Amino acid sequence: MRGRRWLILDFSHSERAPMPGMHMQQTLAAPAVVHGFGYYSGLDVRVEFRPAAVDAGITFVRTDLGPSARIPVRSDLRVDVPRRTNLRLRGAEVAMVEHVLAALAGLHIDNCEVHVDQAEMPGCDGSALAFVEAIQAAGIKSQDAPARTLAVTRAVRIEHGNCWIEAAPDPSGALRIEYRLDYQHDAVLGRQTASTVVTPDSFSRELAPCRTFLLASEADQLRAAGLGQRVTSRDVLVFGEQGVIDNELRFANECARHKALDVLGDLALTGCRVSGHIVAYRSGHRLNAALAVRLLQQAGAGVALSA
Ligand SMILES: [Zn+2]
Repeated sequence: MRGRRWLILDFSHSERAPMPGMHMQQTLAAPAVVHGFGYYSGLDVRVEFRPAAVDAGITFVRTDLGPSARIPVRSDLRVDVPRRTNLRLRGAEVAMVEHVLAALAGLHIDNCEVHVDQAEMPGCDGSALAFVEAIQAAGIKSQDAPARTLAVTRAVRIEHGNCWIEAAPDPSGALRIEYRLDYQHDAVLGRQTASTVVTPDSFSRELAPCRTFLLASEADQLRAAGLGQRVTSRDVLVFGEQGVIDNELRFANECARHKALDVLGDLALTGCRVSGHIVAYRSGHRLNAALAVRLLQQAGAGVALSA
């Protein structure tokens, strides 16, 4: 892409005193635990969100591999696998992290250690709700340093085939995510749009409860490949020809909302809060992550150095 289109607002706390209205970094007030099993692996997993120091960022710790198996949330550590976001560093991997990352980003948690005893995050009900509720129950604590925010200053667009994601400045400094889902050949899913100005409050109510989904034909393929053996149509939204199977939608556009949640989780790979107007059409994790990478590349070294 041509030229520098992104500006990093890197409020280094050692150099600048907080100003009124400035958003401060946040962490958890106490540890929060979520149990479940991985959708793909079927393995039980325990996730513990722990408070972390100012400027620590988000780091996964694979406790089953030892205390040195630490995987910081960085765009360059993403493993290119379909349908999910995995991270790997020196042989230690964490899988399907996007809903965990969305919960942390949506609640404006800047610093956290996520201790897990398996690679794959719990699928729970397919949404980020279990993570959000656990973190909110533990409490959220403001820290003594301004949050780092990456603000879009000029429009940028990334596309692949007939999928795209673009970002433009938001004069208010907010993050708005608009997702346009288009299953034009599927009569049930069809086309739907979700648009949200993401704040901790709106995220908790409008995006966090929205579950991942797949077509019945896709579910059959995964099971035939030996994956998702513990997952039932109560754990995830499965769409058949007559609509959602053995489940009820929480919102008419729950699927588009979930894809907006995925965008938020993938943008967390920047290691920053993001402000801007994001519009995505049929984009998935790969394209979302490409936007995060592009964002960091064009921002310069300021953010990457701190990861
Ligand atoms: Zn998702």
